[in-house]
Order: sequence, then C-alpha cells, then structure tokens
Amino acid sequence: MIFASRGKVLKRQRETKVDQRDEFTRWMDVLLQRAEEAGVEGEVPVAAVILDGQGRAIGHGRNRRQNQRDPLGHAELVALRQASIVQNDWRFNDCTLIVTLEPCPMCAGALVQARMGKVVFAATDPKRGGLGGSLDLSTHASAHHHMKVIHGIRETESREKLERWFKQRRRANR
Ligand SMILES: [Zn+2]
Repeated sequence: MIFASRGKVLKRQRETKVDQRDEFTRWMDVLLQRAEEAGVEGEVPVAAVILDGQGRAIGHGRNRRQNQRDPLGHAELVALRQASIVQNDWRFNDCTLIVTLEPCPMCAGALVQARMGKVVFAATDPKRGGLGGSLDLSTHASAHHHMKVIHGIRETESREKLERWFKQRRRANR
C-alpha cells in the first residue's frame, strides 16, 4: 500500500510538471505576440510576464527603452516593478518570470535581488545573456539566492523573430 500511494504521488508530480510546461508554452505564445507588437513600435521585440504561486499574472512588461528613453526599460524590469506593486512585496520566492529572450546581466541581477523562484526563457543570448548564454549570474558566487532556470520553450520562434527584427532595422538604417 505504501508503494502504491508513493507511485500515485510520483505520477501526480510528473503530471504537474507536464501541466506546468504546457502553461509556460501557452504563456510564451502570448508573449511572442506582445513582443511582435513591441517590435512594430520600434522596440527590441521582447516581452515578459510574472506569475504568482497560484499561476496568476501579476506583472506584464515589454521593452520600452526607446519610447520612454529609459535605459532600465527592459521587459523584465517593467514586469518586476508592476508585480511588486500588485503583491506589495519585493520578494518573489513563489513566483515565476517568463520572458521571450534570456535576461541580460542587468535583469538577471535584478531577478536574483528579487529572489525570483523560477525564470523561464525562450531564446538564449550567447552575446549578452546573463543566465548562462554569456555569463551565469544564477550560479555566480555573488548569487545569494538560487533561482531555477528553464529555457528552450519556443526558442526557435523567438530567435527568428529577433533576427527578423534586427535585419529589418539594419535595412531601414542603410
Ligand atoms: Zn535586461
């Protein structure tokens, strides 16, 4: 009986994991659409959302560096600011941040400071990524908080969108 119930528990845990991946994929599709809209407005096409422990969206963000002339206007930081107001707390241990591109070192550092529970991103950024692409602030000696990092969900779609956007912009600047 003990083994049977343990089997059930393990099965439930597996199902939860599969459900969660599906949930992340659904969100990534929404975010890719929002990233597209940011791209049309002249921003690098990146979008982010923060989910609380119950899976409710408590913060949304798109890049707005150009339009707001804000060097801190990265999608992740915009979402963090909104979510901290919504939950009235700067700690995010139970929360998940989902974003279409690997966070840069500034955002990765902010996520460690915010004690984000989990970070999910689509495309890796080999040049500027702060969570493994270029450097990894989640495992760096300075990281006093351990975040779970998941990547690769809708990776191709996100990378192609970014490549298309940069190509278009280069053409426009010529
Ligand atoms: Zn950033």
